[in-house]
Amino acid sequence: MSRLKVFVTRQLPASLDRLRQIADVEIWPERLPPSYELLLEKVRKVDGLLCLLTDRLDCQAISQASALKVISQMAVGFDNIDIAAATARNIPVGNTPGVLTEATADFTWALLMAAARRVVEGDRFTRAGEWRTWEPDLLLGPNVAGATLGIVGLGRIGQAVARRAKGFDMRVVYVSKHRKPDTERSLDVEFATLAEVLQESDFVTLHTPLTEDTIRLISEPQFQLMKPSAILINTARGPIVDPNALYRALSTGQIAAAALDVTDPEPIDRQSPLLHLQNLIVTPHIGSASRQTREKMALMAIANLVAGLTGERLPNCVNPEVYR
Ligand code: NAP
Repeated sequence: MSRLKVFVTRQLPASLDRLRQIADVEIWPERLPPSYELLLEKVRKVDGLLCLLTDRLDCQAISQASALKVISQMAVGFDNIDIAAATARNIPVGNTPGVLTEATADFTWALLMAAARRVVEGDRFTRAGEWRTWEPDLLLGPNVAGATLGIVGLGRIGQAVARRAKGFDMRVVYVSKHRKPDTERSLDVEFATLAEVLQESDFVTLHTPLTEDTIRLISEPQFQLMKPSAILINTARGPIVDPNALYRALSTGQIAAAALDVTDPEPIDRQSPLLHLQNLIVTPHIGSASRQTREKMALMAIANLVAGLTGERLPNCVNPEVYR
């Protein structure tokens, strides 16, 4: 019997020994992702694919995957994969939920604090030789403690952010697809409509997946509802926010500042007018980037892949319908 074949679309921060025991493993060695054409070529030949959010696995790619038994993504989000197409071909798709929750919530908090207290501007100011003396009105920002935080999407990461907010004595309002009375009690958070969340919050943080419902969820009409002093944080997915509307909101003072770990497109265009704004922080999609977390994500993705290759149920499967 011929050995199973696996394509791994990037070097991973974990040992692949377990995988190598059952399959021939090809690892894409470059820093940048394989091209779509190369991915198509690989997908046609392999039994298992371990991919990242930068790999587009659309209907066309999946329809050509004649031998593919499993797609294992090293991320919790899976908006780069056509799940319906995978399900139609009975291919289970794995992801890595949970292990990145705290790291991503920590990073969300880092961005919130940095945007509020103008950490990045302060660093630029200092390096530019502008720091001459202590000034009573230098780089002022709002209080974080005691402010109102609006959470859009009260899932794993949204709840982890709410817990951090409680340490800062914040009022927390949230909107989610489903109301969560138990969580409201345990975390002391209040349910509201999206409009109310936007109107009442000093900070708005986004934690939904990217879906047809959430694409451009924050656009011109939503910015109009926000306070001029409000700060928007996005560590979810770039297309949830309309970048043109964000530029207008930030440049006209409709909102005070924003911090993005995710952009549309990714990476952000170096010519983007957003990059000229002082009241915007942009980081390169590093929300889950703690060493321990990335290793756990890789191990979880490998475990999903091994399970799929050996006919076991994936420990974390986003389309469990394939098992019915
Ligand atoms: P999760 O537990 O599935 O939480 C997502 C929440 O969004 C769910 O609670 C869901 O609502 C809510 N939601 C879905 N559609 C909504 C809508 N239309 N309006 C309002 N709420 C909606 O996922 P998670 O683990 O917290 O991760 C969230 C997202 O963060 C991921 O999908 C990923 O895209 C992103 N992420 C980014 C990074 C990074 O590096 N920056 C790292 C990890 C994750 P209900 O529970 O009410 O149904």
